[in-house]
Amino acid sequence: MKVSVLGLGIMGAGMAGQLAAKAFDVTGWNRNPAKAASLASLGERIATSPAEAASGADLVIAMLADDDASRSVWSGPGGALAGMRRDAIAIESSTLTIEWVRELAAAAQARGVGFLDAPVTGSKVQAESGMLSFLVGGPVELLERARPALAAMSGSIAHLGPTGSGATMKLINNFLCGVQVASLAEAMAMAERSGLDARQAAAVLSAGSPGSPLVRIVAQRMLDRAYEPNFFVPLMAKDLAYARQAFARAGLDLRSAEVAREPFLAAERAGFGDQDIASIVELLRR
Ligand code: NAP
Repeated sequence: MKVSVLGLGIMGAGMAGQLAAKAFDVTGWNRNPAKAASLASLGERIATSPAEAASGADLVIAMLADDDASRSVWSGPGGALAGMRRDAIAIESSTLTIEWVRELAAAAQARGVGFLDAPVTGSKVQAESGMLSFLVGGPVELLERARPALAAMSGSIAHLGPTGSGATMKLINNFLCGVQVASLAEAMAMAERSGLDARQAAAVLSAGSPGSPLVRIVAQRMLDRAYEPNFFVPLMAKDLAYARQAFARAGLDLRSAEVAREPFLAAERAGFGDQDIASIVELLRR
């Protein structure tokens, strides 16, 4: 199976690496060509445009920052859709708005190209080890065709429903992640400010009811001041904004999403834009 991966950032590089390790015929493309070096070192092809990457592929998987990035990579004369053959499958794994995902699905359909929205849960470690979880929306028959490649990158694949269902589930998921990390930063600051032993406090929180997998991992990074990026600060602000917009249209006002977005925006303004989400605690420490 020929698989092209568009976007070789933290997540896309790990996903392409897993496909290569499991003997798929991989072509990669990244806007900044320097980030394609690790895939090239595995002997895989690197294309010079999304359209070139997409031509001849059975599956084209995008893992890009946001709606603007996705739009520019799929659309237009040099875009991936223009290069895809009919009956190939376009897979969007980026975290995007539901509106754009549906628009993109319609654009793919107009060209005779299949479309799945398949965002992921899991982070850098899971991408690099093929243990992501895919949240898929779209026709089951397309998922069955794409399954071998998705299985190579994941430990689970959930089919949530028609086009847009994967994107919807992902926004709900990351809404809850963003709120947890924002509150965790405040909880850690409370422990430190009160004179408690912060490591002991984090151990209590992690072992108790609030200790979700995310809280446990991010609390440790906050304690260690280990901000090497697994998930960049601006991407969480984006996810919270997309979740709020999507559900405002459905008449649901996600107040906690708006409040939780603040510390991520503030951290970005303070120079933590290229750091891990755990770094938002630093503003509270100052
Ligand atoms: P990342 O390392 O910042 O990668 C972002 C990618 O998007 C890069 O390849 C970047 O290319 C590309 N890009 C940005 N703007 C572009 C544009 N205008 N045109 C073309 N390419 C553009 O981020 P990531 O962590 O891999 O995240 C990728 C997606 O996965 C995001 O939607 C994120 O929300 C989602 N996600 C992330 C995680 C996580 O834990 N990291 C987990 C689940 C889902 P350049 O290198 O040229 O800038």
